[in-house]
Amino acid sequence: MPHDHPHHDTDLDPMTARVKALETLLVGKGLVDPAAIDAIVETYAHRVGPQNGASVVARAWTDPEFAGWLARDATAAIASMGFTGRQGEHMQAVFNTDDTHNLVVCTLCSCYPWPVLGLPPVWYKSPPYRARAVREPRAVLAEFGLTLPATTRIRVWDSTAELRYLVVPQRPAGTAGWSAERLAGLVTREAMIGTGLARSPGSAP
Ligand code: FE
Repeated sequence: MPHDHPHHDTDLDPMTARVKALETLLVGKGLVDPAAIDAIVETYAHRVGPQNGASVVARAWTDPEFAGWLARDATAAIASMGFTGRQGEHMQAVFNTDDTHNLVVCTLCSCYPWPVLGLPPVWYKSPPYRARAVREPRAVLAEFGLTLPATTRIRVWDSTAELRYLVVPQRPAGTAGWSAERLAGLVTREAMIGTGLARSPGSAP
């Protein structure tokens, strides 16, 4: 849409305008440093993302001792790889098995493990996902293109401010002898939320 007038805040969508107004107020009162806000946004937009979680999963696949630690104390195991910080203070890893598939949601809002997955995708925050992941997880998974055997149990984990979850998908067949680094390339964000599986070797990225 062409604009032939100067841009004002009123051109922004309501949420952006509110955030901007709030930031202006907080900066004006000396409560926050605008450079600090920029640094946080930069960090979570570009430097922290699902590649962190993928390296955690790939290490668990290749290092049984680490996998055991991840199962017992995910917060410490993940922190040992340098992934710490906001929204990741208390982590639990949930492991997919032949019998059980894990799916993560935040029914109340959008709690998400930032240090390992970065910022949540829009659908994760959407009311339909939040409501339906609990009520009809199998239908939700089908919409993501994931149809599980009827015998597979689906466990849904509701995130909170106190506890965030990382799904450890099953290691794909045909990857014997692969390095952790190579395996990490198969671990998608969706696989670590539970709306997908790890990719098979040779499948399109
Ligand atoms: Fe939440």
